[in-house]
Amino acid sequence: MASILLNSDHPTITGTQVNYYLICHRKLWLFSHNITMEHTSEAVEIGSLVHEQSYARKNKELVFDGIKIDFFDKNHGVIHEVKKSKKMEDAHFWQLKYYIQHFKKLGLDVTGKIDYPLIRKTQTVELSADDEVKLEDMLSDIIKINEQELPPHVIRAKICKQCSYYELCYV
Ligand code: SF4
Repeated sequence: MASILLNSDHPTITGTQVNYYLICHRKLWLFSHNITMEHTSEAVEIGSLVHEQSYARKNKELVFDGIKIDFFDKNHGVIHEVKKSKKMEDAHFWQLKYYIQHFKKLGLDVTGKIDYPLIRKTQTVELSADDEVKLEDMLSDIIKINEQELPPHVIRAKICKQCSYYELCYV
């Protein structure tokens, strides 16, 4: 799982938190409060396997300045993230846009690509001026959610059954 520890405006917000913000605010809150569940679901196992097989041999993971990215193609200035399926596409987009924004703040002009090896697809991701404004709003919102004393309510959505917090939320 890629993560990023960042910038002075929004300290310690990670790419995973941005991803979870788009999926479920409760999930974000639980994760941010270091509440973790055992990863036993088949979906999680497949996800880990896809991730390992996609980049293990390439050994191109980039870790610097608190950032951990699956693969950075420095020749073309492209950040790659690998994902299992397109189900959470919006969350994947924004996670990558967040990384692109961080690179930009470091003076590096990059684009992003999400690789879906299981369905053999690649999606290009770019960061527009509007996206940057939206991202700043999201980051402020993430901080507010995480500052809440209690977690947000369950969302009773289809995705809950695949979520590692399912038992905590519903059983
Ligand atoms: S099970 Fe559903 S409500 Fe609970 S954290 Fe996961 S997505 Fe959110």
